[in-house]
Amino acid sequence: MNSMVFVGGSIIDPEAGKIRRADVLVENGVIREVGTRVRRDGAQVIDCRNRYLAPGFIDLHCHLREPGEEIKETIASGCWSAFASGFTQICPMPNTTPAIDSEALIRFEQEAAAAARAARIVPVGTMTKSRQGRELAELGSMAQAGARAVSDDGSWVSDAGLMRRIMEYATTFNLLVMSHCEVPELVAGPADEGEVATRLGLRGAPGQAEAIAAMRDIMLAELTNARLHICHVSSRLTVEVLRWGKARGIAVTAETCPHYFTLTSELLADYDPDLRVNPPLRSESDRKAIVKALKDGTIDCIATDHAPHSAEEKEREFEAAAPGIIGFETAFSLAYEQLVLKRVLTLPELIARLTVVPATILGIEPPAIKPGVEANLVVIDTELKWELTRARIYSRSYNTPFLGRMLRGRVVASVLGNNRHFDPEFLKI
Ligand SMILES: [Zn+2]
Ligand SMILES: [Zn+2]
Repeated sequence: MNSMVFVGGSIIDPEAGKIRRADVLVENGVIREVGTRVRRDGAQVIDCRNRYLAPGFIDLHCHLREPGEEIKETIASGCWSAFASGFTQICPMPNTTPAIDSEALIRFEQEAAAAARAARIVPVGTMTKSRQGRELAELGSMAQAGARAVSDDGSWVSDAGLMRRIMEYATTFNLLVMSHCEVPELVAGPADEGEVATRLGLRGAPGQAEAIAAMRDIMLAELTNARLHICHVSSRLTVEVLRWGKARGIAVTAETCPHYFTLTSELLADYDPDLRVNPPLRSESDRKAIVKALKDGTIDCIATDHAPHSAEEKEREFEAAAPGIIGFETAFSLAYEQLVLKRVLTLPELIARLTVVPATILGIEPPAIKPGVEANLVVIDTELKWELTRARIYSRSYNTPFLGRMLRGRVVASVLGNNRHFDPEFLKI
């Protein structure tokens, strides 16, 4: 018997919005008891005093680069990077080489993740064949192989008629439609179009490029009854469009990423290629609108858009650098600092935005700490102050503007069934 008992921690129940003291007994990957007097005989005792236990996080949006660019990330390294950071279930976007557009590739990534014994993959297939935006992909067979969502992330499906058909088919197969909203004709460069970009001599993309795309897709979701999810919201204009769609009762949800509520385009003055992301960092008023939208629920959840790139593709001039930053390792800390410590969300509310809410959007069982279910939990130390160093990063890539930064709060243990990760320093205590 393989058993562990987590003792003395405070358990966060994101569904009820409550925190209570209890111990948790896990046997052979299943939660057996939760309470104040759980059995301990023979179990490995894990001291969780002054720490929180929460359900495992779900990341609706990340990039693992396998197949095709294993030098940047593999499914195994990505699943470990996610798992060590508290994400027990992740949705890799299908813009790999080849793109994940078939039943065989959906199965391949699930098997590769299972072999890594870390986070689990909730598969997302492409909307169109080879992600080329021309022909509908085989949504039915991908759904049968386990896909829960479809996305052509990396590009927007410009053809409105095709997008309508994608939504109709997705509805038939109960797939979530995840849209990377960006009108390509409005994107001239990698910065937020406006005063800062002009001053720095960078070409830009206006918030309208995102908001117009989101508006079209929200209207098509109303027409087709599809479940639409807007990826990586960065602009205050998109927030307004979302508010309109939600007020109308359209089934639209949205995510944002920690960099959009932490950083602004002012920082581009350093031309640091690690600040190049797509959509771009925007103004302080956009950042504030994103924070407000998270608070009032217009933006439902937080995803990482973890996007590993090799040093070679990042160490270029700002405009030529590949867009994206790695996001697993810093996600909880940045959200905790920006949202909980600044009193935008309570800790249980933040945990909900990382667990129950994304589960509901995907249509999977929300993870919960209760007897009789597979163990799917994390231990969080909110007091821990730590520096992001290369040694702390499990990803194969290091493209993050947060290297060397002191952060507050970290996941110190993750458990999913019989998969587990413990911070070595945490177990020493
Ligand atoms: Zn995208
Ligand atoms: Zn992405």
